[in-house]
Amino acid sequence: MKPDLFTAPDYYNIDDLLNEEHKMVREATRSWVKKELSPIIEDAAQKAEFPKDLLNGLAEIGAFGPYIPADYGGAGLDQISYGLMMQEIERGDSGIRSTASVQSSLVMYPIFAYGSEEQKKKLLPKLASGEMIGCFGLTEPDFGSNPGGMLTNFKDKGDHYLLNGAKLWISNAPFADIAIVWAKNEEGRIHGLIVERGMEGFSTPETHNKWSLRASATGELIFNDVKIPKKNLLPNKNGLGAPLGCLDSARYGIAWGVIGAAMDCYDTALRYAKERIQFGKPIAVKQLQQKKLSEMITEITKAQLLAWRLGTLKNEGKATSAQISMAKRNNVDMALKIARESRQILGAMGITGEYSIMRHMMNLESVVTYEGTHDIHLLITGLDITGHSAF
Ligand SMILES: Cc1cc2nc3c(=O)[nH]c(=O)nc-3n(C[C@H](O)[C@H](O)[C@H](O)COP(=O)(O)OP(=O)(O)OC[C@H]3O[C@@H](n4cnc5c(N)ncnc54)[C@H](O)[C@@H]3O)c2cc1C
Repeated sequence: MKPDLFTAPDYYNIDDLLNEEHKMVREATRSWVKKELSPIIEDAAQKAEFPKDLLNGLAEIGAFGPYIPADYGGAGLDQISYGLMMQEIERGDSGIRSTASVQSSLVMYPIFAYGSEEQKKKLLPKLASGEMIGCFGLTEPDFGSNPGGMLTNFKDKGDHYLLNGAKLWISNAPFADIAIVWAKNEEGRIHGLIVERGMEGFSTPETHNKWSLRASATGELIFNDVKIPKKNLLPNKNGLGAPLGCLDSARYGIAWGVIGAAMDCYDTALRYAKERIQFGKPIAVKQLQQKKLSEMITEITKAQLLAWRLGTLKNEGKATSAQISMAKRNNVDMALKIARESRQILGAMGITGEYSIMRHMMNLESVVTYEGTHDIHLLITGLDITGHSAF
């Protein structure tokens, strides 16, 4: 892979909207990505291996629980810093950002928001330091966009619960130490349970042959009469709103993250267009290429402003699920289109691992599907503005 020459586009001086802490967090993450992630990511993706050596570094830069209070081992940062961190990590690779997102928003957040004090004290510091890695099991083979129909269930057996069912497409599953699993009780009410590796009847087979997020490990969670201690139930929230609350946080991170992937594609394509000579001139002088690049920087700038505004709303506790949904949908779509256009600007070179673009493009095909598909987010906006559900 070519050396990482990334220069971040900031066409509207969005830096002026950031405070010193935001810029410091962003620069620290950016330099970690350049030094530790960029040099190894292409090889990891080609081999379809999760680069476990990055876990310590991710923990050190505060990417595990950026907004979890320092009392529980988190970095205690605001939502804009969290977003900028996700942007910089995804500039490197969406799969590595996925690992950080899952750990922070889908494992640490539910423990922090819905867990008992004992669960928080015991697990959050270990998750923040990377000593323990988690995964989040909501999707099932027959229930993806419609998780409320889930079949995974647990029965009260007096001194413990008995868990049965299966989850599919679970990021980090093959190596996670714990899983936050969403399952129905005997009344059909959804609860979160902390399932630990090593519990009898619990297995996590890896899903192979992915063309997307190859540097992220994905797998199944299978529960065959797994005995769950009662203290492993998240006590403070239940119902479908509980997992959806976690998704709000993760979708917010994605809305920022994909800007990083788009910026990397744009920056690579711009540099290439200035250097690549055809018909005696750099292709950057051609109107067709300028149209592509101009549209890209316009869309990136709009996405940056959307994410920043959403971050300020989130810091004030005012961001709605529907607003988060809109930003996730818009920004992933923007990034995917930019990846495809950038790939074309590089011609044949664009399909190789010499450049990051094709990897970003393939990764974004998962990002547009997970955490609510492009269609589902459109329906969420539709419901919000019309008051009618079209699901
Ligand atoms: C790499 C990867 C990692 C993932 N990680 C996790 C994870 O860590 N944890 C987890 O729980 N899940 C995870 N997922 C699962 C992901 O969230 C689901 O794939 C997603 O919710 C969509 O579900 P599905 O794939 O079953 O598609 P389906 O729900 O079957 O949808 C298929 C198509 O139908 C459309 N559709 C569905 N319903 C409607 C409707 N009402 N109206 C119109 N169109 C509709 C969809 O938009 C889509 O285009 C991951 C997925 C991938 C690919």
